[in-house]
Amino acid sequence: MQISEKFFNSKTTQQIAILLFFAAVLPAALLTILSNQKISQIVSNYEHQSLVEKSRTYALSAFANLTFARSTLEHDIAASRKLNTQSTKLRPNDYPMFNVINKVSIDGVMLDSKEKNTIPAELLQEWLSIEPNQTRIFMLPSTKDQTHATVHFVRRNDKLVPFAFYIAEINTNYIWGQPSDYPEDLNICAYQLNNNTKTKIFCSGEDTSSRFKELTPINAGAWELFLGAEFHSNPWLVEIHRTIPISESHLKEYIGTTAYISVGILSLLLIGLFTLIQLRKTMVPMENLVEGTKKIGHGDFTPIEVSGNSEFSVLATAFNNMSAHIKQQLDTLQSYSAIDKEIISTLDVQRVIQLIIQRMKEINPSLVYLIANLEEHTKSDVQCNCTVTGHAVLSSVRLVMSQQEIKEIRQAGRGQFKRSGLSSQRIHERIMAELGTNHIWVLPIFWQDEICAFLLAGSKTELNQKDLRWDEFKDLSSRVGIVISAQRREQKLLTEAQYDNLTGLPNRILLLDRLKLAMEHSHKTSKSMWVIFIDLDRFKDVNDSMGHAFGDALLTEMGQRLTSQTRDTDTVARFGGDEFVIVLSGDEGEDIQLSVLNRIMDAIAKPAYIHNREIMNTCSIGIAVYPNDGDNAETLIKNADIAMYRAKELGRNNYQFFKQSLNDRAAQRMQMITLMRKALELNEFTLHYQPKVDLKTGKIAGLEALIRWENESLGKVSPSQFIPVAEEAGLINSIGEWVLRTACVQMAQCQQGQYSDLLISVNVSAKQLTDVNFIDKLKSILVETGLKAQHLELELTESILMKGETNILYKLHAIKSLGIQLSIDDFGTGYSNLSYLHTMPIDTLKIDKSFIDTISLNKTKAPIVDTIINLAKNLNLKVIAEGVETQEQANYLKVHQCDQIQGYYFSKPLTCNETKALLDSDKRLSLPKLALVENKQQSL
Ligand code: C2E
Ligand code: MG
Ligand code: MG
Repeated sequence: MQISEKFFNSKTTQQIAILLFFAAVLPAALLTILSNQKISQIVSNYEHQSLVEKSRTYALSAFANLTFARSTLEHDIAASRKLNTQSTKLRPNDYPMFNVINKVSIDGVMLDSKEKNTIPAELLQEWLSIEPNQTRIFMLPSTKDQTHATVHFVRRNDKLVPFAFYIAEINTNYIWGQPSDYPEDLNICAYQLNNNTKTKIFCSGEDTSSRFKELTPINAGAWELFLGAEFHSNPWLVEIHRTIPISESHLKEYIGTTAYISVGILSLLLIGLFTLIQLRKTMVPMENLVEGTKKIGHGDFTPIEVSGNSEFSVLATAFNNMSAHIKQQLDTLQSYSAIDKEIISTLDVQRVIQLIIQRMKEINPSLVYLIANLEEHTKSDVQCNCTVTGHAVLSSVRLVMSQQEIKEIRQAGRGQFKRSGLSSQRIHERIMAELGTNHIWVLPIFWQDEICAFLLAGSKTELNQKDLRWDEFKDLSSRVGIVISAQRREQKLLTEAQYDNLTGLPNRILLLDRLKLAMEHSHKTSKSMWVIFIDLDRFKDVNDSMGHAFGDALLTEMGQRLTSQTRDTDTVARFGGDEFVIVLSGDEGEDIQLSVLNRIMDAIAKPAYIHNREIMNTCSIGIAVYPNDGDNAETLIKNADIAMYRAKELGRNNYQFFKQSLNDRAAQRMQMITLMRKALELNEFTLHYQPKVDLKTGKIAGLEALIRWENESLGKVSPSQFIPVAEEAGLINSIGEWVLRTACVQMAQCQQGQYSDLLISVNVSAKQLTDVNFIDKLKSILVETGLKAQHLELELTESILMKGETNILYKLHAIKSLGIQLSIDDFGTGYSNLSYLHTMPIDTLKIDKSFIDTISLNKTKAPIVDTIINLAKNLNLKVIAEGVETQEQANYLKVHQCDQIQGYYFSKPLTCNETKALLDSDKRLSLPKLALVENKQQSL
């Protein structure tokens, strides 16, 4: 078994090993040590006890010997008495148990010894305490060896004379035997205990009394022999010790500690080993599982090894199943993602269908697949673009199916199993049969509840619900619906983004594309190319007066007319509002003819019938030629626009080719705007006043404030030039406010003097009137300046009023209610819808100069002037003629009962001071000549 390094790196292994150490190895080691100690102790006790037992045996044996010796002695004494041989001398040689037997007199003399030794007095004294016929043991120092004593029996005679005591020295060998009888490894010693001292009686070897206590219990044992009862003597002590002591190592050897420990270690090793084996068995599958899980994280779904039938094997099998399932899901997701990516990035329906079929083929290679994209619907048929897979290759087939067949497929809903056959009436069944299948599964694919495609999956054998992953097929098929819907939606968006909603013509975006293509074409073929910018004249007025719906219809009609005048290769685009742009390319072999412009103008000029009304139109056209007037689309359009602007300036209803000088004018406009922004701050504006004269009295009835601008670099700029630019640039409100305030201040000053009934007229632009704060500003200016409202008149252009907007109407009434008078400037030039005159709170009509110009010496009649004067009279309005330059005009107007005139004939616009001077001079219109004319007219 191989244990890899990783095996020990495993945290679980480490934890189990630590657990094992604390739970098994440590206690086992402790148990081994403790039981070893216990066994040592038991063995030691046992050995000690055996020595004690031996001591006891020796001691008891000695005691038995002593008892027998005493019996023998007493028997002998009794026998000698029977013989009445008081003098009988007891011979020790007859008694080997005794060395010597002596009789001792009462005074202690040993009667049987030659030397007649005497017993020491203190000993004798002791002996006297012995009862008659009682035998006691006494220890007497050995005559040979002073270090040990010899054992004696002392018996008291029942008489004191001739002797009082028997004394018998007991043979030591009789009591203890020969030293050689004792085992060699043991040393046995016997002592009499005397208080705290020991008197040696016998030793089989060396006397070890002095170091006996130092010996370990295993090596020594002792027994105390009680002699008090039998022999009235002090006890004896038998000590045994080993001559060859048992040492620690001997004991270990004896117990077998090494083996014991070895067995312990071995068993521990075995425990460890078996545990490791078990751990390995557990951890290897676990590691495999971990490894497998990591691999899944890296997208490797290789199954992990499964062995045995443990829970881990079950887990590994489950893991492999799970991994296979995830892989399958992942494959599905990846294929979905690839398909979705394709859908998002290319919107290529065919490509997506191919990917889907490939995926289906991966899921079930044995089936034949067909996905049909229903492309074009006619009343009876549907054109289908089909992608088919046979056994390997994908191919495309175009089929035409009847609406009825498609309807049947639609009814398959969430999938239907069918049979296919070569004789089938239905094309889809027949084609699947031709592909070698007998059974098919039909799945319609929907977009916005409409069938847009369908899937056919065919097989030779019968198909059923449980066979296949139909749900996955449905998911995949739904993507066909998505891509078709996305493609159609994009086409719709593209159309919406590139075409104008109203007219259906290409819009700016598509125009730029087409223009770029046309430029490339022109560049390659060296054919000329024109950008024609068309603006309908006075369309704004039509829109304002007729309403937006009318305006929209007119624009659509004009768009169609323009298209009808061009070829398919040309582009007619709606550029915005009432502006159209045509990109016109030269034909093969011929350049663009000017006649095309006339054709366009004629087409626009034809009367149009919209909402049952006839309307006449004209247009202004600007032309930029590629590449002379610009080498990029934006410049060409801009220059054509500039040229169109010029055509407008030149009185509309004409066309103009772009010239560089026109571009310079546009640049000047930009410069003008920049300078105008600072003009107020720099006090560059002033006001001039042009008097209005009453034709009846010849007196100055009012003054019109006219703005003047003098700039350092531009010099004097006419209001006809800068006012429209200010309106365009959004500067008119601040400029207009300044004019109003300045005029009111200056006139208030005049009024303080003598000209209290003078009416001051201020021109107000249409843009000013749309300012929500206009009325408030007006009020505050009146309050600030102190000018009375009835002395102020606002001159409005006709177009403002023609809009007829309720908001404007409301404002005009509000102005009127302040007491301010309202006048229509340049009357007659606007679009001729006079109905507004009834509803508007107007005081004065100011006839435009262009009509006054028609009054000349040669012409006795100026019908429009007459008409306007009559109109004013009928409407009870004051009427004034502007731009009166000649006496004839003044006369004519006087005769025709115009109320007032204004013009160079009486006075040009004057500075404030000049005006004051004029007023002071009380200049009047010379009336006498007028009277003549009047008379003349009357006579006529
Ligand atoms: P308008 O209000 O119709 O003013 C009359 C214009 O005709 C003035 O030109 C005036 O100087 C000029 N004029 C007067 N009598 C004669 C004449 O006998 N013969 C000729 N040929 N011209 C005559 P002006 O001052 O250049 O103003 C042009 C236009 O600019 C004004 O036409 C008005 O629409 C606008 N305007 C002038 N001042 C202001 C202003 O303060 N605010 C606004 N919104 N527009 C103003
Ligand atoms: Mg005016
Ligand atoms: Mg005017």
